[in-house]
Amino acid sequence: MNFVFEPPEQPTVATLDGASFPVHRIYCVGRNYAAHVREMGFDPDREEPFFFMKPADAVVPDGGTVPYPPMTSDFQHEVELVVAIGKGGRDIAERSATNHIFGYAVGIDMTRRDLQIQARTKGRPWDFGKGFDASAPCGRLSPTAQVRDIQKAPISLTVNGENRQMSDLAHMIWTVPEVVAYLSRYVTLVPGDLIYTGTPEGVSPVQRGDRLEARIEGLEALTVRIG
Ligand code: MN
Repeated sequence: MNFVFEPPEQPTVATLDGASFPVHRIYCVGRNYAAHVREMGFDPDREEPFFFMKPADAVVPDGGTVPYPPMTSDFQHEVELVVAIGKGGRDIAERSATNHIFGYAVGIDMTRRDLQIQARTKGRPWDFGKGFDASAPCGRLSPTAQVRDIQKAPISLTVNGENRQMSDLAHMIWTVPEVVAYLSRYVTLVPGDLIYTGTPEGVSPVQRGDRLEARIEGLEALTVRIG
């Protein structure tokens, strides 16, 4: 093909067995744990889920560095379960949602909280608070067959070894099948899509040099450093 310049490299996430999962799009769920909804100043009544996006090339692998981004003085972590779509579809039924999932990983939805809240207050898009360079650290993907139970598993994040977030996937307001089914009514899901499923309480700011370690029991841990 006669490209006018070399196309950018395909963003990927490594799988447990050393293969590469090509990333197509990154969807993120907002407000999916009641205690986090409260800490952000809202009522956790079961509203419809809502979504925002990050660019595919925002992924950062385990062991990688997240450069402290420009235009913020409140850069925060949000540990999340990441669902990787392996089979596309639209109007996916809840009961068949897991057939569309390739696997799971631990991710961090890095957030310029000050920009997100400014945008939220003014009714503007969240993009610059959420979707920026290196804003989507993602650990190695475990194929679904190798994951025991994703309905219930401890999820946590430490900064320099200090506990910041500690919860359980059982506290998600919208379950994984519900999120996949709901999202697929609005967009056609494609193999390579990632879904960050929301964060529990305990989000907090990070500084240059901090070491973040994110864990979900049964999945590979994810460690990144803030550069
Ligand atoms: Mn989030």
